[in-house]
Amino acid sequence: MVAASVARVWSRALGAGSLTWRGFIRLAPGVRWLWALVALAACPSAWADDVLFENIRIFDGKGATSLSAPSHVLVRGNRIARISTEPVEADGALRIAGNGRTLMPGLIDAHWHAMLARATPAESFGDVGFNNLVAADEAKDTLMRGFTTVRDVGGPVFGLKRAIDTGIVVGPRIYPSGAMITVTSGHGDFRQMSDLPRAIGGPFTRMEVVGGSIVVDSPDEVRLRAREQFMQGAALIKVTAGGGVSSPHSPLDVTTFTEPELRAAVEIADNWGTYVAAHAFTSHAIRVAIAAGVKCIEHGFLMDEETARLIADKGIWLSLQPLPELLRQGFAEGTVERAKADEVWPGIARTYELAKKYKIKTAWGTDVLFSRALAQQQGAILASLTRWYTPAEALSMATGTNAELLALSGPRNPYPGRLGVIEEGALADLLLVDGNPLETMELVADAAKNFKIIMKDGVIYKNTLDRP
Ligand SMILES: [Zn+2]
Repeated sequence: MVAASVARVWSRALGAGSLTWRGFIRLAPGVRWLWALVALAACPSAWADDVLFENIRIFDGKGATSLSAPSHVLVRGNRIARISTEPVEADGALRIAGNGRTLMPGLIDAHWHAMLARATPAESFGDVGFNNLVAADEAKDTLMRGFTTVRDVGGPVFGLKRAIDTGIVVGPRIYPSGAMITVTSGHGDFRQMSDLPRAIGGPFTRMEVVGGSIVVDSPDEVRLRAREQFMQGAALIKVTAGGGVSSPHSPLDVTTFTEPELRAAVEIADNWGTYVAAHAFTSHAIRVAIAAGVKCIEHGFLMDEETARLIADKGIWLSLQPLPELLRQGFAEGTVERAKADEVWPGIARTYELAKKYKIKTAWGTDVLFSRALAQQQGAILASLTRWYTPAEALSMATGTNAELLALSGPRNPYPGRLGVIEEGALADLLLVDGNPLETMELVADAAKNFKIIMKDGVIYKNTLDRP
């Protein structure tokens, strides 16, 4: 809390002095502190806990299809305190002249891997120190693209999350699953043939020690590993119920976990008040997962119509990603991974059509892996949803709807409070957008240019209002 307050005051002082964190750090030490004193003295509102956005039009993240009338939004501490079309009294608040720009909730990516977005598995498991620094740099970029929250569905992300939450590095809120739980030869089993056979009970491979993914082959092992993730602060459990594209020994058609194994994961998640999300492409893998009590299916790109209907009837979440062509082409021609990608990709459009047809509760994410260039496309991948949705529908999905999925973590929710919406009492994760994203969805693809202010938890991390 103290760290967050210091960060809040400091961000405002930097904003008042039109200086970035990086610029501040580059100043000579003596100049740095002199500047800090002058900036804080010249900007009493830096000390204030309130920020008033004046004359903005609101996209509320709750399914509205148009912007609000010109309004004012008061942020007090880390919450939205007041929304009104009438002038709002806010003595001592930092006032931001919106000039008719759009205020919208911070974006949420429901399928992200903070530790793997840039690094390959070999890199990330090889040099943990380096990879944490890479991930911290990526986390800052992620926030600067307007993504104030990610659901991290696999990877050793607990340290990064802690560093962000305590203000040591800059990044989004993270809902972590911790290590992906997989089976021998399942998706996420990146072991080589030379690692086989493994005796029951050990030894661990590097991938497992680091916490990227962990192999289990019985309900007992599932319970142990699930509990270990919760001990470290997991908000949900991620299992891989069927084959995957990027794993070398995991054919797409294979249903990996047995139902009793999945049931064990669900039982532990239930006991911790949260849920299990299952990676699954095929109808069979999806059906086994649903029978075991899994509440969220990731991908589902090879499902049939009957299974789509089942997902809708049971009220199961479907977490979809409009995976870009660039990702498919990233798998080298002639490899097993490329052949699997070629099989999965045509299913993406079909699955979006099914999700719409059966009104399935659909979350949006990117699943960017192993590529900084792709990570930079995070906003563009969101904008690509206009193949199937209106901008209002797509942006509601990436804000209010995704936040409903996050709330499924119940008592394991690391950030209690409403996210993804602009309403009184909600957490203040806000973007001030130059233009109307409901008319021009592409605005979200270029955050550097179009997101003038990025606020997370009431703290302004970016303010370029004074620049053209
Ligand atoms: Zn993934």
